Amino acid sequence: MSSKTTSPEPSSQLALVTGGSRGIGRAICIKLAACGYNVALTYARNEAEAQETAQLCREAAQSAGFSTTRFATYGGDIASTTVCEELFAACVAELGAPDILVNNAGITRDNLIMRMSLEDFDEVLSVNLKAAFIFCKLAARSMAKKRFGRIINISSVVGLAGNAGQANYAASKAGLIGLTKTLAKELGSRFVTVNAIAPGFIETSMTEALGTEARTSLTNSLAIPRLGTPDDIASLVGFLASDEAAYITSQVIAVDGGMTL
Ligand code: NAP
Repeated sequence: MSSKTTSPEPSSQLALVTGGSRGIGRAICIKLAACGYNVALTYARNEAEAQETAQLCREAAQSAGFSTTRFATYGGDIASTTVCEELFAACVAELGAPDILVNNAGITRDNLIMRMSLEDFDEVLSVNLKAAFIFCKLAARSMAKKRFGRIINISSVVGLAGNAGQANYAASKAGLIGLTKTLAKELGSRFVTVNAIAPGFIETSMTEALGTEARTSLTNSLAIPRLGTPDDIASLVGFLASDEAAYITSQVIAVDGGMTL
């Protein structure tokens, strides 16, 4: 009996992931590449890390048997509306309009409200929320036309529960949840699903400043006694992007080891 091995069919679908140069965004790009999607990723300044993600995507795709999938990187500060529009246009020109949009890029500028500057409030809202709104707006038209789309917004447990010292960040992440639920209602009739993920404490450069003692105490307070990894978030993105998740929309799914029990 002869055995025949066939390569899996690459998806012709394109995923656009903001903030894909490192951390959670990088893990999301690699996961989607391993599932056979073409991936366009954005970053702010770290071009070398963005290129490294693209290379890791190529390797993940090849290991999974996808040899024709495409990857591209686009750099720019998405606090600017014009930059968001330019990045999106460049992606459409090179790879087409995205079928899957993951709004992942995010920043913190922590301080208690009495010391928080208006600039720090504005910057966090611009990157974390306004840019997500712009990318959703730009992606929605072609998704609605194709009668297919997946929008996945990376919120935070802080958007659900608040956190002292993070008024700007919490407001932006809670805003993403409102955006998610509204777009789910607006786009559902076109079979576009819109969901949010609320990560707990995930080990990335965003959280590296937390000291050993605080980490231990946090870990001990969780139902699952370890900190989260970027792959914990990427797995859920992979599922929400897939056909298996076609009937899931308007959800906010916490991936937090039980932090918000
Ligand atoms: P990270 O390691 O700090 O990476 C942030 C990513 O966003 C990088 O790719 C960065 O690009 C990009 N970015 C930052 N500012 C930008 C700007 N102004 N314009 C364009 N891109 C920009 O963050 P992370 O920990 O992976 O977090 C990813 C997402 O998960 C964020 O939305 C965050 O709020 C959310 N989240 C994280 C945690 C956690 O514990 N880590 C928990 C809950 C939610 P450069 O590399 O070029 O700077």
